[in-house]
Amino acid sequence: MAPSAAQLFARIGTATPPRPPRILMHRAVVLGGSVAGLMAARVLADHAEEVLIVERDPTEGDGPRPGVPQGTQVHALLPAGQTQLERWFPGFTAGALDAGAPDFGDVQGKVYINDELRQVPDPPGARPALITTRPFLESQVRRRVLRRANVRMVYGRAEGLLFAEDGVRGAVYVPDGADEPVEVEAGLVVDAMGRSSRLNDWLERHGWPPAPMRRMPIKLNYASALFERDESVSDAWAVISQTTPGNGRVPRIGGVLSVEGDRWLMLVAGYDEDRPSRDAAEYAQRCRRHFPSMFGDIAERGRMIGSVITYHQADSRRRDFHAVDRLPAGLIAAGDAVASFNPVYGQGMTSAMLHASCLSAWLQGGPDVTSEPARPYFDRVRVIVDAAWQVSTFADLGLPHITEGHPRGYRVIRWASDLLLRASMTDEPTCRRLNSVTAMETHPAALAKPGVVLRALRLRLLGRI
Ligand SMILES: Cc1cc2nc3c(=O)[nH]c(=O)nc-3n(C[C@H](O)[C@H](O)[C@H](O)COP(=O)(O)OP(=O)(O)OC[C@H]3O[C@@H](n4cnc5c(N)ncnc54)[C@H](O)[C@@H]3O)c2cc1C
Repeated sequence: MAPSAAQLFARIGTATPPRPPRILMHRAVVLGGSVAGLMAARVLADHAEEVLIVERDPTEGDGPRPGVPQGTQVHALLPAGQTQLERWFPGFTAGALDAGAPDFGDVQGKVYINDELRQVPDPPGARPALITTRPFLESQVRRRVLRRANVRMVYGRAEGLLFAEDGVRGAVYVPDGADEPVEVEAGLVVDAMGRSSRLNDWLERHGWPPAPMRRMPIKLNYASALFERDESVSDAWAVISQTTPGNGRVPRIGGVLSVEGDRWLMLVAGYDEDRPSRDAAEYAQRCRRHFPSMFGDIAERGRMIGSVITYHQADSRRRDFHAVDRLPAGLIAAGDAVASFNPVYGQGMTSAMLHASCLSAWLQGGPDVTSEPARPYFDRVRVIVDAAWQVSTFADLGLPHITEGHPRGYRVIRWASDLLLRASMTDEPTCRRLNSVTAMETHPAALAKPGVVLRALRLRLLGRI
């Protein structure tokens, strides 16, 4: 019997160390050297004699860079992503803590839903969460990947692909400071150029069908600022505050994270016309008015480093390579180049890490990458994308400005998911189950079991939630 999506999801998310290297090609080329590209390069280091990463930005240091403009905003790493980092780079968390990621030991983060503090404690012995800025995390991954003897990064702009009859045989890029493009042959090319990747255009230009694109208009507006961490202002360590749509509420999300360098990174976000500006006074007012008290305390009494930085994301989008009927061999896509979600659910980096696990599972089977299209890879990636898409787009269907695309039975599913969220505020088993799905450790099918909803319903009928 074919494994279910939930079983495949669990296999892809495995913590089991990778199998011994098995060389399948001379060279692999990875276009884009951010989280997805770096993770793919780490996997490919076990299957290619040589891995070449082509990245547009100079990437020395651990500050924000133009190619990853979202890097200034709050980024949370989900537990399933941390598992993959530990899997591919044993001791990653300890190393990142040594390098300056904050370690708050047993101190728990706080989660507020609709102004109410969630009461469920973390399970005993929970691994310390890795809370850092996005550029810091990426630099930790990059350092480890580039330490491998067969991985190299070059700086330049990828401009296209080289095609053979049945597929791709390499890539073209213009090195930094050069005028002329360079052609590089490869057994496998990875598109890790993020959500604005032009891979579909390149495919079409050479007579290959593009991957169908699906979009959901989310109209999300972020504003983040860094502050010097100061105990006399607040003891906030990690705080998430979410106002969910419904009952006339204005959906919003905020977060305070203690990050490396003894700083807070604080986010306030809204949707559609609810748009924070770069004005510091307006930012502070928002923090005070719409979020728990520590937000206002930090904004009003904390010392801001730099200024408020805003970011707008118009849509969630996915490119369904699994649905393409004619797929060239020698080519895959990973990370946001495949699917880019509403960032408030924190799924992006973890998805990219799970795509790397899909790549590993495919290559461990020993395919002839130069003649066989990567269908087994894209079929696995689909399982991850479907799961993340289901969680985030279903939640977003409740946003007031989303007026279409609601599936049949939407009201019933919405009622059940609101009930689960309500129960998760105080009921430990429900909270663990829900968290495990939102942390991408468990497939969302785990929440659709009758027992899960019945438990929450019973609690409601007993007046306990
Ligand atoms: C506001 C915001 C907040 C977010 N918060 C979270 C969060 O809390 N948790 C989370 O997990 N995810 C979050 N995400 C999503 C996360 O940022 C992405 O999922 C993740 O960065 C995807 O990585 P990637 O490597 O696929 O793409 P990207 O990080 O976008 O990187 C693409 C890379 O390709 C390079 N590139 C592009 N074109 C070329 C070219 N032609 N030639 C060479 N190089 C090229 C770029 O320079 C860049 O390095 C957030 C996103 C946004 C917008």
